[in-house]
Amino acid sequence: MAHQVPALPYAHDALTPHIDARTMEIHHGKHHNAYVTNLNKALDGHADLAAKPIEQLLREIEQTPDSIRQAVINNGGGHANHSLFWQVMCANAPAAPSAALADAITATFGGLDDFKQTFAKNAATRFGSGWSWLVVDGAGKLSAYSTANQDSPLMQGHTPILGIDVWEHAYYLNYQNRRPDYVAAWWNVVNWDKVAELFASAKP
Ligand code: MN
Repeated sequence: MAHQVPALPYAHDALTPHIDARTMEIHHGKHHNAYVTNLNKALDGHADLAAKPIEQLLREIEQTPDSIRQAVINNGGGHANHSLFWQVMCANAPAAPSAALADAITATFGGLDDFKQTFAKNAATRFGSGWSWLVVDGAGKLSAYSTANQDSPLMQGHTPILGIDVWEHAYYLNYQNRRPDYVAAWWNVVNWDKVAELFASAKP
């Protein structure tokens, strides 16, 4: 079955005032939809690859033929990244992660505020378009970095558990060129419960 855009787990206006409804409508309905459409187009005629779940497709990106690999990286990455992005946001977000994740964040980054600073800096300094991530690496350790374009951490064997989209389409209507303001506001909608759940299932 062809890849599909997952339904948003909340209304378009659920994240206001931090992310406006119009941005969510266009971002989910147009941008994510385009990644899925173009991914399915790239996989047309590759039944074996088309049958893989998106995470597996990206983890095994080396198995994708050269002729469609960059299209899968761009559009498959776009599909996976946005599918995660919608899940790690919510209305009435919890202020902090639960104990197991909080402890791991403290062990790696020094504390939640230190982590937020690192993550926000990675988001602010990503030149052009991309994502800032919190990932679980192959050894079960947390790590934070940014990637360009739609490059997914899955391609390097990492499991993303939190990510912010810093493409201009994610924030331009409300924040224009003020990416740091968007990132600062975004913490208000982070669904730490979901991140903790992803952390628990990502540990090897
Ligand atoms: Mn986006």
